[in-house]
Amino acid sequence: MSVRVRIAPSPTGNLHIGTARTAVFNWLYARNQKGKFILRVEDTDIERSRAEYTENIKSGLTWLGLNWDEGPFFQTERLDKYRQAIQTLIDKGLAYPCYCTSQELDEMREKQKAANQAPRYDNRHRHLNAEQIAEFEAQGKKPVIRFKIEDNQQIVWNDLVRGKVIWQGSDLGGDMVIARASEGDTFGQPLYNLAVVVDDMDMNISHVIRGEDHIANTAKQILLYQALGSQVPEFAHTPLILNPEGKKLSKRDGVTSIDDFRKMGFVAPALVNYMTLLGWTSPDGEEIFTLEEAATKFSLERVNKAGAKFDWDKLDWINSQY
Ligand code: GLU
Repeated sequence: MSVRVRIAPSPTGNLHIGTARTAVFNWLYARNQKGKFILRVEDTDIERSRAEYTENIKSGLTWLGLNWDEGPFFQTERLDKYRQAIQTLIDKGLAYPCYCTSQELDEMREKQKAANQAPRYDNRHRHLNAEQIAEFEAQGKKPVIRFKIEDNQQIVWNDLVRGKVIWQGSDLGGDMVIARASEGDTFGQPLYNLAVVVDDMDMNISHVIRGEDHIANTAKQILLYQALGSQVPEFAHTPLILNPEGKKLSKRDGVTSIDDFRKMGFVAPALVNYMTLLGWTSPDGEEIFTLEEAATKFSLERVNKAGAKFDWDKLDWINSQY
């Protein structure tokens, strides 16, 4: 099997250290396996996506030496593919229109909260008949499209970092929204989980390597691959980058974008060297290496499960070696 990996940043901000570190691991894995590294821009959130952020992501990756083999591909240029997949799911009886208003959904959640239950969609529009649908349409209501998730479904995968992962369908929040209506188009706005699966299928992605904050999404996405009759790729969830206090590194920690590090005077080879060590250990204990050297030794088995604490002293020390 030829290895094809990707990163799929959303252009809603400058290149972030978390995205860059995911790019490092994907790049290293692709080079180690003589595979391909693909860049895909997830710009379906039109309100928050900006061309300048796409430019910043591209120039940041280039500065770090993380060149891509294919792309960039843009989701906004692929809307027809998502429409087709949504139609396939509807035709198979696996997806349906839901006309619940946000007020109705809020009330549903309030009741669940009062009963000490986890918030979830209770699948109430799963069985609307043609007349009920016609009535909602006549009222001018615009549906979302939901994909059916059975509570008793079990989703199991062998994660290349975390080992066997098991999810229960009942823990996925009920039937999930895969598309919203846009101007004059019932499912013109596909959502992340649907779009990402269609893209990964279409681009023959063999391994999805991304942050562990996507684990619940992976469970949902596996159901979508199966529903669309596609082979499921391998998954590897990398540990989150933590701040020195052990919490997820966020904007509040100040320095988070690659530009910030660049402005502080860190050089690109030192920064990629340091990012490689954020969650990976070299088999020979070596700590100073170029990307090419790391690629010869890289394996997913040596990616840690535990969160990777950001260590300024270590970054300073690595920077001083270049
Ligand atoms: N746009 C998503 C993100 O940046 C992509 C996640 C994925 O790799 O599937 O988190």
